[in-house]
Amino acid sequence: MVKKTKRIELQPWQDSKAKPYIHLEGVSKEFGGHVVVDEVSLSIYQGEFFSLLGPSGCGKTTLLRMLAGFEMPSRGKIYIDGIDVTHRPAYDRPVNMMFQSYALFPHMTVEQNISFGLKQERISKTEIKQRVSDVLKLVQMEKYGSRKPHQLSGGQRQRVALARSLVKRPKLLLLDEPLAALDKRLREQTQFELVNIQEKVGVTFIMVTHDQEEAMTMSTRLGVMDHGRLRQIGTPNEIYEYPHSEYVADFIGSINKFEGRVVEVEADHILVESEEAGCELYVSHSADAPVGAQVKVAIRPEKIMIATTKPEQKRNATKGIVRDIGYLGDVSIYHVELESGKIVLATQPNLVRLAERAVTWDDEVFLLWRAENSIVLTV
Ligand code: ATP
Repeated sequence: MVKKTKRIELQPWQDSKAKPYIHLEGVSKEFGGHVVVDEVSLSIYQGEFFSLLGPSGCGKTTLLRMLAGFEMPSRGKIYIDGIDVTHRPAYDRPVNMMFQSYALFPHMTVEQNISFGLKQERISKTEIKQRVSDVLKLVQMEKYGSRKPHQLSGGQRQRVALARSLVKRPKLLLLDEPLAALDKRLREQTQFELVNIQEKVGVTFIMVTHDQEEAMTMSTRLGVMDHGRLRQIGTPNEIYEYPHSEYVADFIGSINKFEGRVVEVEADHILVESEEAGCELYVSHSADAPVGAQVKVAIRPEKIMIATTKPEQKRNATKGIVRDIGYLGDVSIYHVELESGKIVLATQPNLVRLAERAVTWDDEVFLLWRAENSIVLTV
């Protein structure tokens, strides 16, 4: 289930005059002849919370490490604020990185951990004190300044690590799976805290995660990676509603897919004949697929309505038998077997309808959806 994101007012990527803060141009990285990041080009704007999302081993951490200056690209260029930093070492970039393990010094107190980097920069004691106090307040850890890391919970350690990363006032903060060490409940709570803090400080954040829900909840935009390549870049809504490929559609949330053959293509729609779906599929957008091409039409489970009487619409309407029902609190997920044997998932809110008998196991039901809620996947 995708949560609503609240941070969509900021959309510099739609402004052709906006200058990207970070720009990657054809960046590749090979380890021993094996390509792990493959021709990645990407622009990220100031104040964004950008997530790199993908399965384990797809190259997202390597891409982050190249931005930080811990790895050098085999090919391509990296610009930060218009300056070519491709061959600059980590210490010479306006960047800070927060590691998955938090890497706190165990023998130092919270305050000492946070001030460590500032002391090395020879900043005056008064200023250090002020900055440490401000940043502790920001992450709501004012009371814990004299504790050592082992006297803190996982969530508190995460906040200290964040404070330590922010105290140096980087223009760009890179976060490698920042919430991985937290349990589910704390993780969800911390997601919102992290977004609020980022909005307050206005620093550009780039986060690596394999957790799609986390990326969807927190990011202004995200890039979905697969085998070293960026498959799609977009807002959480764009990625969820309009995945360009089967890979992205499958990676984000659950989705039903029907195989079929294109029988009509117009500027405003495409019609697909599908035995698997048991009906004609009318999709209200065009696609780059000629008549006769095999395609897949995808529909999210929450976009499918379940009816107990036969609907008037012939297209985007099929029937089946309820084989299973999963209760998820406010919604139930119905597994409906079509005549072709295909199992379709349909999510329905659990409303109390006294007049109507609830749909249950082995019922024959009709499934229908609106044309604008389906998409054609050609790759
Ligand atoms: P995870 O979520 O598991 O951390 P990831 O998407 O961040 O995965 P990377 O850590 O970027 O993936 O690794 C991508 C590939 O590059 C992996 O196959 C990994 O084994 C390989 N790799 C990473 N660093 C090195 C290295 N220093 N030397 C050789 N191979 C490496």
